[in-house]
Amino acid sequence: MEYDVIIGMEVHIELSTEKKLFCSCKNEFTYEPNKNVCPVCLGLPGSLPVINQQAIEYFIKLAKALECKINLFSKFDRKHYFYPDMPKNYQISQYDLPLAVAGKLFLPNFNKYVHIRRIHLEEDTGKSVHIGGENLREAKYTLLNYNRAGVPLVEIVTEPVIHSVDEAVEFLQLLRLTALYLGISDVKMEEGSLRCDVNVSLKPKNSEVLGKKVEIKNINSFRFLARALNYEIERQKNLLRQGKEIIQETRGWDEKTQTTYSMRTKEEAHDYRYFPEPDLLPIILDQQYIDSVKIQTTPSEYYKKYVALGLTHEEITFLLENPNINSLFNTLISNQSDPRPTVKFLKTDFAYLFNNNQINWQKLSIKNILEYIKLVEKKAIDVVNSRKYLVEILHNHINLIEFLKANNLLIQEDSDLAEKIVEKVISDNPQAVEDYLQGKEKALGFLVGQAMKELKGKAKPNTVSELIVKKLKAQVKS
Ligand SMILES: [Zn+2]
Repeated sequence: MEYDVIIGMEVHIELSTEKKLFCSCKNEFTYEPNKNVCPVCLGLPGSLPVINQQAIEYFIKLAKALECKINLFSKFDRKHYFYPDMPKNYQISQYDLPLAVAGKLFLPNFNKYVHIRRIHLEEDTGKSVHIGGENLREAKYTLLNYNRAGVPLVEIVTEPVIHSVDEAVEFLQLLRLTALYLGISDVKMEEGSLRCDVNVSLKPKNSEVLGKKVEIKNINSFRFLARALNYEIERQKNLLRQGKEIIQETRGWDEKTQTTYSMRTKEEAHDYRYFPEPDLLPIILDQQYIDSVKIQTTPSEYYKKYVALGLTHEEITFLLENPNINSLFNTLISNQSDPRPTVKFLKTDFAYLFNNNQINWQKLSIKNILEYIKLVEKKAIDVVNSRKYLVEILHNHINLIEFLKANNLLIQEDSDLAEKIVEKVISDNPQAVEDYLQGKEKALGFLVGQAMKELKGKAKPNTVSELIVKKLKAQVKS
C-alpha cells in the first residue's frame, strides 16, 4: 500500500524587539539567569501588561512578507495551563481573532505555495533547567529562568499542504531567511529564537479519508526536523501496514535514540479554557498605519529576480544564506556588473576571504571589485598570482590598473612576440607536436605552458592555444 504524507507546521519566531511584549524589560539573550525580569513578566499581583508597539510593527512586516490578510481588529486571549516556567499560569496569546490570516510562501524548488492559515502574537514562556535528569519528573531539582518570559513570539500555522520532508525543510529555511532579511529576529535555532512543531499524518494514495494526526514538539534544528519527520513517517507506515491504528498524540524527538516518543495524548483547544484577556484592550489597526510599515526585499523576491538573471539554484542559495554578500551582489549588479561572473567571483575567491574574516565591509572598494571582475572575465589578469594580493585589491583605494602593472599581474598582449615564441616552441618540441597530431590533447597543454613561461604575461593562454593549433593545422596542410 502506498501512502500520501501530509504535514502541517507550527513555527515560533522570537521577535528581536528592544523590550519584551508587555513590560519594559530588556529582550536579550543572556547567560545570566533572571537578569531581565519585573513584576509584569513575573506575574506578580497588581501588575498590568502594556502592549509593545515595536512588536506590532515587526509582526506586520512578517505578515506582509507572507502575503497575509492583516485583521484591523484583533484581541489577546488567555491560554491556561500549568508549567513552572509560566509564572501567571496562563499565557497571553491570541485565539479566535489572530492578527493575520490566509498567507502564503512560495517554495521555488517545488514550484508551489505553502498556504498559511494564521499568524498570531503571543508571549514566550521562561525556561526550566532540569538538574540531574532529562525532564521535570526525572530531575533532582529544577531551576527557573524567567529572562525569556514575556518575550514577543510569533506563531505561524500552515495549512496541511506540505507533502515531503524536503518541502518541510525548504519551508522552514525560507521562513527563517524571510525573518532574517526583514530584520525582525535573529532566528537562531540553537538559542531557541526559531522553533517548530510538526503535524504528520498519512493517508492511503487516492483516498479522501485523512489519517490520524501526530504532533512532534520542540524541534530545534534543521537536522532534527528531517530526522524526526523521516522517523515518524516510517513509524506510521509500519503501523498502518500491520493493520494497527495510529493514536492521535503529541510526541517528542529523542536525539539520543533517534526516535520519537509519546509525550501525551493530543489536547484540544477547549482544554486550555481560552478567554479574552481582560487587562489588554483589543488591537485596532488602521489601514494607513499598515501601509506605512515598509518591508525590505524578501528572499522570495530575490529568488525570482535571480532566476530571471540566469543564476542556478546553488548560486541563489549561496547568496541568500549570506545577507552581506547578497547586498554586495546587488550593489555590483546595479553598477552594470555581469551577474554570472560576479556571483562566481563572490562564491569562490571572495567567499574564501570572507570566511577567513579578511573582509572589512567599511573599506571595501566597489570600483575595484567591479574592475577586477571585468578583467578576470576578459582573461586580462593573471588570476592565480593576483590571489595573494586580493585583500589589497578589494580594500585599499588603490588605482587597480597601476597596482596590477606594478606587480606584473596584468596580461598585456604582444601579438608579434606571441607569434615568434609559438614558432620557437613548436620547433623546439617535435615530440609534443607529434603527440598532439596523433590526437593526444594533453600535448597541447604542454606546448601552451612552454610558451606561457617565456611570454611572461604578454599573451593570454587561450590566444596562445589558438595560435598553436592554427600553426599546426597549417603545417599538416602544407
Ligand atoms: Zn518584565
